Amino acid sequence: MNSITTAPVDQSQILQKDQQFVWHPYSSLSNPIPAYEVVSANGVNLHLADGTELIDGMSSWWCTIHGYNHPVLNEAAKQQIDLVSHVMFGGITHAPAVNLCEKLVEITPAGLDKVFLADSGSVGVEVAIKMAFQYWISQGQSGKNKLLSLRSGYHGDTFAAMSVCDPVTGMHHLFDQVMQKNHFAPAPKTGFDEAWDEQDIADFAQIISDKHNELAAVILEPIVQGAGGMRFYSPHYLRRVRELCDQHNVLLIADEIATGFGRTGKLFACEWAGISPDIMCLGKAITGGYMTLAATLCTDKVSRGICEGEAGCFMHGPTFMGNPLACAVANASIELLLSTDWQENILRIETTLNAELQPFVALQSVAAIRSLGAIGVIEMHEPVNVAEIQKRFVAEGVWVRPFGKLVYVMPPFISTETELKSLMQAVYRVLAG
Ligand SMILES: *Cc1c(COP(=O)(O)O)cnc(C)c1O
Repeated sequence: MNSITTAPVDQSQILQKDQQFVWHPYSSLSNPIPAYEVVSANGVNLHLADGTELIDGMSSWWCTIHGYNHPVLNEAAKQQIDLVSHVMFGGITHAPAVNLCEKLVEITPAGLDKVFLADSGSVGVEVAIKMAFQYWISQGQSGKNKLLSLRSGYHGDTFAAMSVCDPVTGMHHLFDQVMQKNHFAPAPKTGFDEAWDEQDIADFAQIISDKHNELAAVILEPIVQGAGGMRFYSPHYLRRVRELCDQHNVLLIADEIATGFGRTGKLFACEWAGISPDIMCLGKAITGGYMTLAATLCTDKVSRGICEGEAGCFMHGPTFMGNPLACAVANASIELLLSTDWQENILRIETTLNAELQPFVALQSVAAIRSLGAIGVIEMHEPVNVAEIQKRFVAEGVWVRPFGKLVYVMPPFISTETELKSLMQAVYRVLAG
């Protein structure tokens, strides 16, 4: 039976109880903003409890690359659930995890040969940072215990991850007393397609040269800075970072949680620069948005360095590590992606988004537009009122959730031309209105 038929009474109760009991991301419980109740979803459409249908422009925070309720992913979950949904990973292994790790090693940049499975993106970043710290401790260089990251970056909400997020948007002053202090270089200025200017890396080069004795790693989002500002930067910047890390004996962590699995037009954004990091974080789209899972990959050098140290092992092991259900769906999602002409498809989305973005330039309220792969960004002059603009997007039949001055779309890869145009034209009507 379809749950829509049980609607009216339950529905209002759900929304009322939601406000009474439930935290939402970055939300106030003293002054709650009503949420929209989703009862089901299919393809690129979200079905709300009141019968409204919305075209999803967010891929549920960049995860649902194949859309919702996909028969192949559903089948993978159902098959695995009848075998074993979860089993501890200490001393036990299973095909879904082993196959996933082998596949990840195969498709990620050369040299990333070992995989640690974690529960969420933020935990994957914690794991990456801990790997870097433990590596240097094992080398007898425990003084190398700080990180260098970029302004306008975002790496998650847990404490180590937060300590490398942009200090302003991450509100570092709020957590001044409890958070590790790291180093920050200015955000890259040279745009993705712009001519390289060596001056753009000068501050970064200075900091890494001055501080390398205390630096365990550089951590950054390759090519696309996501939740910290939706900025696209030059592959040359990333190549220079790789060179400077090598020169100064500092590890490089690439956080591909947002960019991984095709979003930028390459399977992994590091490929734009032809570099391999020492450690790489994956998450978000890894299960096609079905459930939470992350992976942190590292080189043999890093894994050997850690395991040959005092502890003799890597000091981490989450309860739900390698969850079979999540791994089975991740395997199906990656297979599904690679079985299609995904590069051609992302190019199609990029071309459409780019064309549909052009009319926005004429709007007074719009400061800039940009697109790369299946990402389209409209930067406004002023921050938007999210609650107010959300109502208007919903009234226009689309799900778009801006932050700050940024109205952006990251549609599912299955979005048709018609769906992409409907999405962008609805966004236009809202911003023009
Ligand atoms: C979303 C994101 C994270 C955090 O992932 P969660 O699953 O939300 O913990 C980390 N890094 C980047 C680049 C992200 O986009």
